[in-house]
Amino acid sequence: MAEVLVLVDQVDGEVKKVTTELLTLARRIGEPAAVWIGEGADDAKAKLAEFGAEKVYVAPAELNDYVVAPKAELLAKLAGEKSAAAILVSATAENKEVAGRTAVKLGSGVLTDVVDVTADLVAEHSIFGGTTITHAKVRAGVPVIAVRPNSIPAEPAQGAAVEEQVSVELSDAAKAAKVVERVKQEKGARPELTEAAIVVSGGRGVGSDDFSVVENLADSLGAAVGASRAAVDSGWYPNQFQVGQTGKTVSPQLYIALGISGAIQHRAGMQTSKTIVAVNKDPEAPIHEISDFSVIGDLHQVAPQLTEEINKR
Ligand code: FAD
Repeated sequence: MAEVLVLVDQVDGEVKKVTTELLTLARRIGEPAAVWIGEGADDAKAKLAEFGAEKVYVAPAELNDYVVAPKAELLAKLAGEKSAAAILVSATAENKEVAGRTAVKLGSGVLTDVVDVTADLVAEHSIFGGTTITHAKVRAGVPVIAVRPNSIPAEPAQGAAVEEQVSVELSDAAKAAKVVERVKQEKGARPELTEAAIVVSGGRGVGSDDFSVVENLADSLGAAVGASRAAVDSGWYPNQFQVGQTGKTVSPQLYIALGISGAIQHRAGMQTSKTIVAVNKDPEAPIHEISDFSVIGDLHQVAPQLTEEINKR
């Protein structure tokens, strides 16, 4: 069975959830082979094996000293050497660039923001805010596919995770942009938005940049905080927390929308959540069409009561 290369996303050596989703997807297509760059592969191997990685290719940390291009050179080289069936990466801003560059090197094609892939490599896109599904297939060379986080449920399956050291002779072009400094983002107490099991989001209904009503409920549940674009555009919450078509895609077990109308572009980023709870004072708001539980009321009354009840437990 041909290998499917999966570029691992990790933070401080911890494998991100999206990689477990990509490995699950890779198993449909062929034999999953994780591509790990830098130190820490030994500790991560168990997790990669748990989601079916048969191989773990470990590349030198030096590749992380430069911006994007070395990853593309590595993936293109591995794809050739291993006769890979496909390359899967997460559809982050950086990895989409990696995907594009890799496809150019391979003379193949790239598909980005994909939400599903069949065994015969037909990729599914969800467009126009989730109202339209399109299918596309790369017709030449090894397809490079950037898959949106939270599109595929990760399912465990034991793999062998056989480690193999790999390397690539970086071209001068790949060394053109060097990373001069890494500034660690302050890791708050809350889980990361795209990885969280529970997300509490606030919209225009919050009414001001005082998002404490949203944050307090989120903290009572150990949840991540999200925001609608209206809230972000009003400057009430930072844009890395925006959920939707032009923000993050989330698919938590529980999504609580506070004062969010449920515009199509917002739905595009959260409609696959397992359980959706909407708090909205307008009984006609479109969010109620997709919510499992609706509370018709003022979020400034409902959310604090909910927070208090949860904190009592
Ligand atoms: P509104 O639509 O104004 O809704 C506010 C809701 O709060 C109303 O339903 C109201 O009844 C309720 N409310 C008001 N006060 C209270 C209260 N006290 N208690 C309870 N309920 C209350 N939007 C996104 O969110 N994410 C995106 O990624 C995104 N991308 C976009 C991309 C494009 C190309 C375009 C054109 C638009 C995009 N939008 C996106 C914007 C989207 O169309 C909506 O404008 C936006 O989602 C509305 O945000 P909202 O629901 O917070 O505000």
